[in-house]
Amino acid sequence: MTTGPIWQPLVEELARWQWAGRKAEFWLRDDDAVDPTPALDRLLELTGEFAVPVTLAVIPAQTDGKLVVRLDEAPHAAVAIHGWAHRNHAPEDQKKQELGAHRPRDAVLDDLARGLSHVTGLHGTRAVPMLVPPWNRIDAGLVPDLGSIGFAALSVYGPPKPASLAVINSNVDIMDWHGTRGCRDHGLLVQAIIAQLQHADDGSEPVGVLTHHLVHDESAWLFLERLFAVTAQAEACAWLPIRTLIGRSAATAIPRKV
Ligand SMILES: [Zn+2]
Repeated sequence: MTTGPIWQPLVEELARWQWAGRKAEFWLRDDDAVDPTPALDRLLELTGEFAVPVTLAVIPAQTDGKLVVRLDEAPHAAVAIHGWAHRNHAPEDQKKQELGAHRPRDAVLDDLARGLSHVTGLHGTRAVPMLVPPWNRIDAGLVPDLGSIGFAALSVYGPPKPASLAVINSNVDIMDWHGTRGCRDHGLLVQAIIAQLQHADDGSEPVGVLTHHLVHDESAWLFLERLFAVTAQAEACAWLPIRTLIGRSAATAIPRKV
């Protein structure tokens, strides 16, 4: 497959990493899975073809054994906890949030504990104790308590803030939510990936690609296919399972103050 001139800067960046004897690390987070669908099949087949591990952020209140049966055929997929019901509790004039300060903290923490228990009960060892807050937002005051209800990691979007548990954020969102609501321009996404690689060149923060299989247009699928093809051809590139990243980050998380 030829990927064209838009991708050449990434090919060259990855070549520089190879000359330097270093590994460029990527991971893939896909949000909002609930049930098996044709779009989920497409995601699992595409990632499976390129041996890219995928972390599905699953909405606990809406999912059941049907997803378990489908994922039993997808050993490269892990499952994380996408809030509880993906329900907005913020007033209309505020940004959407399920895990904000709009409800008593115990109510929010109970939801999260129930979500972790439900998804882990369904998926067993495929479930990782990582919280992916809906809309990538959580009240900062809740984060210190996530460990006490069983979470080992948190994943939102953007540069990570210090926390008492591992923070493994996504940082390249392929969707243009405020414009076309389709895939962002491929050239801009390539530049965003290169910027993240250069920002993370101490190797501490991988490129976290964020996808939403249920709303992908053809351009989004094409972008992923080309990204996987380019990275598959680069020796200096690795797509990491979420467990590897959690294990590594846990060692550097700031201990919880009591
Ligand atoms: Zn979501």
